Amino acid sequence: MYQALYRVWRPKKFSDMVGQEHIVRTLCNQVSTGRIAHAYLFCGSRGTGKTSAAKIMSRAINCENPQNGDPCGECGSCRMIESDTSFDVYEMDAASNSRVEEIRELLEKVDYPPQFGKYKVYIIDEVHMLSNSAFNALLKTLEEPPEYMVFILATTEPQKLPSTILSRCQRYDFGRFTESQIAGHLEKVARESGVSAEPDALSLIARAAEGGMRDALSILDMCMGSGETVKEENVRSVLGAADRAFLFQFCGALAEKEGGEALRLIDKMMMYGRDVQVFLKDLSAHLRLLMAARLCGADETIPGLGGTYGKRYVAQAQQFSHERLLRALDLCTRAEADTRWAASARSVVEVFALRVCEQPEERDYEALLERISELEMRLHELEQRGIAAPAPQGKPFEPKVPKRTEKQEAQPIQDSPVPEGTKLPKDVWNDALKYMRRNMPQVFGPVNQGKYGGYQDGVYRVLFPKEAEFLASMLNADERRKLVEEALNSCGGVNARFEAVTSLPAADPQKQQSVESNVDALVEMFGRDKIQVDE
Ligand SMILES: [Zn+2]
Repeated sequence: MYQALYRVWRPKKFSDMVGQEHIVRTLCNQVSTGRIAHAYLFCGSRGTGKTSAAKIMSRAINCENPQNGDPCGECGSCRMIESDTSFDVYEMDAASNSRVEEIRELLEKVDYPPQFGKYKVYIIDEVHMLSNSAFNALLKTLEEPPEYMVFILATTEPQKLPSTILSRCQRYDFGRFTESQIAGHLEKVARESGVSAEPDALSLIARAAEGGMRDALSILDMCMGSGETVKEENVRSVLGAADRAFLFQFCGALAEKEGGEALRLIDKMMMYGRDVQVFLKDLSAHLRLLMAARLCGADETIPGLGGTYGKRYVAQAQQFSHERLLRALDLCTRAEADTRWAASARSVVEVFALRVCEQPEERDYEALLERISELEMRLHELEQRGIAAPAPQGKPFEPKVPKRTEKQEAQPIQDSPVPEGTKLPKDVWNDALKYMRRNMPQVFGPVNQGKYGGYQDGVYRVLFPKEAEFLASMLNADERRKLVEEALNSCGGVNARFEAVTSLPAADPQKQQSVESNVDALVEMFGRDKIQVDE
């Protein structure tokens, strides 16, 4: 029968465990000295070895002949527990057995002493999933446990546990594995399975697993399927990732500030059907390696910088200034977050690339960016009114993005008048946008995809094209609508309400914008001295 790698490779002894040295040392010490606690709490994200450690601990404390704190694996107790035939060790997954009767049934058996070993061990996985009454039942036992009773509770979310439980446990926090710990273990697994693997392929898996050994082994499992050498390119196709040559080419374009070339490469990437989110994740890993290369040179001890690519990273890193690289990394991280909300993930990458290419190298970036986005917003407004010409297309390359069809879209209606001395609706709106961008990324993303649709009787509207109706209904959901209203109210709106729409009430023809009102708008935005009207 086929067994998943992570099962086959589950450590059977503390000395087989990867990492978590301080925990392993303490537990071994307790086994050796016989100072066993009644309740342990193992916390940590998935795949960090909590369940493995719990299983080993249950065997070690019952072993007839423990060796330096490790179970011998050969005595009657070890064999019974390992083959799941022991009545002294119970394992329970609270995620599937959270009903109070089940935990009560388990706890009723606490009164019967162990049949074979010294200790009776209950391992409760995902313990935070227990119901409140189940916690109460557990607490009662924890308050006065029989001498032989040991609980090992494991959880990914310790903050969800009642403090009464927490205070009765010896707590151990299992850290995520480092990339080199994972890569090292994968190398061992591959070697002992008789499969060869490229070191670069293993570092790529290690990076993708984000600190979880189980995920890493599952990815390796998929890549080993064919029985041939595990190559970097196989791993990339399993992960849906872009290959490294492409990342070098793309970052080369960014380094040279060739926005057109960067857009062309994005186009190429989309044609290959790459996932934008995966690409951004790879890209930020690439940028981090460039940063490391800039700071440390081709340091072999940094995973990813050794081997054939080290020198290339160092060379590419030299093409960026430190600030620019830092900025690119920051923008990339933001773009990664933005793709979750944007209607078009592709445009997020394109905007990212253009920002990195066009970004001037000055001291005060934040202020500068603020200024740029303010101007962009005003320019956008002017374009919508048909005043400003669209930005010139300097380069021959034209990205294959769907053409905007603003001319066919409904135009915003004029804001209804507000009392003297009150902030103008449009200013309230613009300030609210800035406020949302800083404080409410979850609504700023979608709101920013629409355009200002005008203010009428206390309601601010944002206009979406028909095909983006889902964005409108998403924003109209209570929870998000309230956030937008909160932003409006804290930026000077009075009892402001918000609505996302795909069409507007018919505009009053008398209020149609004339050339004069356009000039007024320009003057208002840029100041009278900047505007010259040419008859
Ligand atoms: Zn034993």
